[in-house]
Amino acid sequence: MQDKELYQHILGLSTPWSVSDVKLNIESQEITVRVDHPRGTKFCCPECSTELPCYDHGEERRWRHLDSCQFKTILVAQVPRIKCPDHGVKSVSVPWAEPYSRFTLLFERFAIDLLLATQTVKNAMTMLQLKWDATWHIIERAVERGKARKQPFPLPRIGIDEKAFSKGQNYVSMIYDLDNSTVEAISDGHDTEAAIGCFFQLSAGQIQSIEAVAMDMSPAYVKATKQVIPLAESKIVHDCFHVMQLANKAVDKVRRSEHRQLLLEGDEQLKGSKYLWLTSIENLSESQSKRFDELCSLSLQTGRAWSYKELLRDLWAHKTETKAKSFFSDWYNRVIHTKLEPMKKLARTLKERISNIVTYCTHGITNAVAEGINSKIMSIKRRAGGYRNKENFKKAIFFYCGALDLYPR
Ligand SMILES: [Zn+2]
Repeated sequence: MQDKELYQHILGLSTPWSVSDVKLNIESQEITVRVDHPRGTKFCCPECSTELPCYDHGEERRWRHLDSCQFKTILVAQVPRIKCPDHGVKSVSVPWAEPYSRFTLLFERFAIDLLLATQTVKNAMTMLQLKWDATWHIIERAVERGKARKQPFPLPRIGIDEKAFSKGQNYVSMIYDLDNSTVEAISDGHDTEAAIGCFFQLSAGQIQSIEAVAMDMSPAYVKATKQVIPLAESKIVHDCFHVMQLANKAVDKVRRSEHRQLLLEGDEQLKGSKYLWLTSIENLSESQSKRFDELCSLSLQTGRAWSYKELLRDLWAHKTETKAKSFFSDWYNRVIHTKLEPMKKLARTLKERISNIVTYCTHGITNAVAEGINSKIMSIKRRAGGYRNKENFKKAIFFYCGALDLYPR
């Protein structure tokens, strides 16, 4: 009798539901709590809430609850059914679980908390003594719930970016809310169609609310944005980190070819210098910056390429697009008259896209948020021991990076 009262409290049950039996099975380390209602209780139709007498009961069902006394605790009940004149025979909703769930609300809440806190699907699985599928089912339901509840708030500043799901050509495209550092949409692939697929996950109002879109220089994303977003030309901002990454690559190409050339002449002065050229000066150690100064004084091609790259950084310091454009045009003219082929190639690429690089001066956005979210996804991926499939990968991104209201109520 005491057990029944205790579990009545633990489960937080109220009328008409009460605990009718508690069984401890030592062998399976399980406590089974049977829950019942008095005869003659009326229940509501889940569709229209009309109060109706109990028609019959469905099969006995089991819900996993939070462990009690370190035993797996299972709630067991036969769910009453009503016969609604409008909706036919329906199972009623029970207060301890969502329809079709195999877990009680409290268990599901706890599982979500644990998954969020550990950020490791595997650890949470072990701690909850759940199987892989059951765990992913909780994540999936949580994401569905969260998405259904999510209000389509305006998204003035967004970013669009790709993320590799596995090695090779397996990508997803994602839209970020740059103001709130959240993932708002995901679709398969990283072509124009994928990006359009992402945009169409936003509401029409959200599309209208977009003022600026940060992205790399992928033609597919540019094309998709122009197709979907009104006045996209003035809203696309090519991410400055991406541009500087291209510049770094160009410097490195100059270094590699010059190094090869010098080696032929028996000159090893560029040997092992890659890191020095690609790292910000402030991050070099004392001995590294000493060597770097020496290299710079040697009037190498790599040194010149490096200074053009450094000079390019000032592009983003300008207050207006016009000033930034005229700065770029000076920079372009200097670079294009050198013999530094990779830098010239870079200059031409940037010239083509310059009007969507200088938009930074107006909108001030970068995809740095995306980098933050990417590293979060990478760490989840590492510690979760893989997602096994792309659908799980997408679910996990929404679960951890969607700022969704995940809990069952
Ligand atoms: Zn009804």
